[in-house]
Amino acid sequence: MTDSSNWRGESQAGATVNASQIDQFQRHSGIGSSITIRDVVKTYGNFRATDQVSLDIEPGEFITLLGPSGSGKTTLLNLLAGFQRLDSGEILVDGQRIDQVPTHKRGFGMVFQSYALFPNMTVSQNVAFPLRMAGADRATTDRRVAETLEIMRLSEHAQKSPSQMSGGQQQRVAIARAIVMRPKVVLMDEPLSALDRRLRESIQIEIRDLHQTIGSTILFVTHDQSEALTMSDRIAVMDAGKIIQIARPAEIYRHPKTQFVASFVGESNLIDAEILQRSGNTVTLKNRAGYVFQAESRDAASAGRVTVLVRPERITFSNDPMANAMPATVTSALFLGETLRIEVQVDGGDRLLIRCTDLASRPLPAVGDRLHVGWGADDCWVLT
Ligand code: ADP
Repeated sequence: MTDSSNWRGESQAGATVNASQIDQFQRHSGIGSSITIRDVVKTYGNFRATDQVSLDIEPGEFITLLGPSGSGKTTLLNLLAGFQRLDSGEILVDGQRIDQVPTHKRGFGMVFQSYALFPNMTVSQNVAFPLRMAGADRATTDRRVAETLEIMRLSEHAQKSPSQMSGGQQQRVAIARAIVMRPKVVLMDEPLSALDRRLRESIQIEIRDLHQTIGSTILFVTHDQSEALTMSDRIAVMDAGKIIQIARPAEIYRHPKTQFVASFVGESNLIDAEILQRSGNTVTLKNRAGYVFQAESRDAASAGRVTVLVRPERITFSNDPMANAMPATVTSALFLGETLRIEVQVDGGDRLLIRCTDLASRPLPAVGDRLHVGWGADDCWVLT
């Protein structure tokens, strides 16, 4: 680590980089890079941590790798960063192979769960560090650090040491340091998981806004589905070293490809049913107890047993019989303020979780109440 008092305004090679060179770099890096990951395999012994992973990322996209612990997210990020080498496959940035390029020459910004700030430097010196390593002159560095602290709303803390800052503030300093060079690619590995929920939610929005401001391509790793839904342009859901589905958040939530994705992202009611007939993308189904309902399906099958997904907030209920509804008994009812969480047992069928907005006009259901529950064809999705 270089002592901050030891300022020379020189790169390690001794050449001074002036403001216009850095600004030129900034202009060129106004938009993020495209990234192509092709058939990437990384093994540890016989174990495939990433198994033929392919992923195309557009310039300036915010992509989240989402999956349970051990699904290969960090391995994929480390391969991109150059901390590990691929067994096979290739990684291209703006069309150029980079998988043989050393980490420090890839020019990516990086943020990790642990803030890894230099404890003996001020906030401002921490953020200045990458510019100093690149040999930026003092005027350029001061200006760029001030701009970046402003973007991250840290200006008033510039002279503090990291130990005087809260966890959330320290992570914002780490993010500021990662973006001070205006990198075309920023990699973030669970950067918010050490923070409490409220702080996490506010920094999620900040990172989203930051992405709009700097335009870098961001690859973000998390195991937290709500974080992924909030922040991403697209989410790549990983399981056992493979990408199971990549799509926009609403598509992942509404039309998950598999039972794994349906269960991992959001809450789900999964119902076994038999297809009776198909009309375009709508199928008519019968559940175990013989109740008939409709669902949306993009699969071509017109017969056979399937599992369908109904999200808890898509289920409607009434005390009176409704069309296409099933009789059920309330087994649990919780008042949560703005919403109600209700569990019902459908007669002869499944247990279902319902979430709905509290309405002044509707009495709160109680355990043992008899209800009629149902949903529209658009609210029910056939899994593959
Ligand atoms: P995630 O980030 O999704 O939690 P990782 O990419 O860290 O998953 O790990 C994927 C799998 O690879 C895990 O089963 C993990 O135990 C294994 N793994 C990761 N790094 C190593 C290593 N250096 N040596 C052996 N196994 C590893």
